[in-house]
Amino acid sequence: MRTLEVKTLAANRLRKGYQALEEYDFKALGDFKEGEAVEIVDQQNKFIGKGYLGKENRTVGWLLTADKEEAIDSTFFDRQFRIAQRARSAFYADESTTAFRLFNADGDGIGGITIDYYDGYYIFSWFNKGIYTRREEIYQAFKVAIPDFKGIVEKVRFSDATVASRHIDGEVPPEPLIIKENGIQYATYINEGWMTGIFLDQRNVRRKLMEDWGTGKTILNTFSYTGAFSVAAAMGGAVKTVNVDAANRSKAKTTEQFEINGLNPDDHEIRVIDVFDYLDYAKKHELKFDIVVLDPPTFARTKKRTFSVEKDYVGLIQEALAVLADKGMLIASSNTWKLDRDDFYEMVNEALENENVDAYLLDEYRLPEDFKVNEQYPESDYLKVMVLEKTN
Ligand code: SAH
Repeated sequence: MRTLEVKTLAANRLRKGYQALEEYDFKALGDFKEGEAVEIVDQQNKFIGKGYLGKENRTVGWLLTADKEEAIDSTFFDRQFRIAQRARSAFYADESTTAFRLFNADGDGIGGITIDYYDGYYIFSWFNKGIYTRREEIYQAFKVAIPDFKGIVEKVRFSDATVASRHIDGEVPPEPLIIKENGIQYATYINEGWMTGIFLDQRNVRRKLMEDWGTGKTILNTFSYTGAFSVAAAMGGAVKTVNVDAANRSKAKTTEQFEINGLNPDDHEIRVIDVFDYLDYAKKHELKFDIVVLDPPTFARTKKRTFSVEKDYVGLIQEALAVLADKGMLIASSNTWKLDRDDFYEMVNEALENENVDAYLLDEYRLPEDFKVNEQYPESDYLKVMVLEKTN
C-alpha cells in the first residue's frame, strides 16, 4: 500500500472526520491507479487513516478508516452495511413508506457508493471507478450482511461507464415497481438509466404538500418529471395541478402516477413544453397559482435552450413570482453541490428584490435523515429547499 503525505491543513481536517481527499491536499499526488489503496500520513509521517483513490467530481478519493489496525476487506464492508441498516430500522418498520436510502456514501462510511431500498430491491449506485474496482467483494459482503433482498440492481454514475444500469442478483424488479411513500403510491422503473421515477430525497417536502400546504390549492409544478410533488398535493386535496416538463415521457409517467392513486388525470394538466415558454404563456394569460414548485436540474439542454442553476436560477424565480397568486407559496429547490445553502439563499433574495416582491422564509428543508450526512463534510448535504410565502 502506498503511503501519501497530506498538507497540514488537510491533515487536521481529516483527523476531525472529514473523509474526502482532494487533489490540493497533496503536495504531489501524481498518477494513480483507480481504486488504489492508500495510507495517509501527515507532514511528520504520523498515521491519519486508510482509504482509496478514485476520481469523483472534486475529490480524488475517500478515507475509510482512522484505525491503523483495521483492514479494508469484506469484514469492514459487512460491518458498515449492518450499521447502516440498523440506523434505518424505523424505515424498515414503517409500512406506509417502502422506499428509502439504506446507505449514503461517506455519510455511512464508504465514499463513492449509495444504496437505495425499493420495496425489497436494492439499487447500488457507483460514483467513481476506484470503488467500482472492488465491486465483487462489496456485493459479497452486502449479501452476507443483508441476505433477505428480493433483487439487486446497479447504476454506474461515473462518466465513461459502458452501461448505466444492470441487474446483479435475485429477481429482476417488475416494471413498474410500485413503492409507497407516506401512504401514496409511486410507479418506479429501476431497470433502466439512473432515474427511477422518484427522487427519494424530497420525501419530506412531498409529505408537507400532502398534509398541509396543498389542500384546496392550485399548483404549478415546473420540471415536474413524473409529477411526484403534484400527486402528493392532490392526495392532500389540491384542487388542480399543472405539470410542466420538456420530456415527452413525462406525460405518460405523470398520468400513471395519478391513476395508480385513484386520481383522475383529467382534473390536472400535464404539459410537455419548456418551462420558460410555459411561464411566458402563463404570464401573458395572467394565470395565477397558489403554489409554484421550482425543482430544476443543475444543468439541462432542451431543443431551445440550456439552463444552468448558477446562471439562470435567479431569472427563473423571477418568472415564477410573476405567476404567483397573492399570499402564494414558492417552493424553490436546488440539488447541486456547487451552491451552498447561503449562496442559494442569496439567489432567492436577489430574485425577490429584483421583482420588488415581499416574502418571508416560511420553511426550509435539507436532506432527510436516511440520507445520512457526515457532519464534518457539510458539502455533501447538497439539497436545499426554500419555502417562501408572499406577503403581498
Ligand atoms: N421535480 C422533479 C424532478 C425533476 S428532474 C421531481 O420532484 O420528481 C428534472 C426534469 O427537468 C427532467 O424531467 C427534465 O426533462 C426537465 N427539464 C429540464 N430542462 C427543462 C426545461 N427547460 N423545461 C422543461 N423541463 C425541463
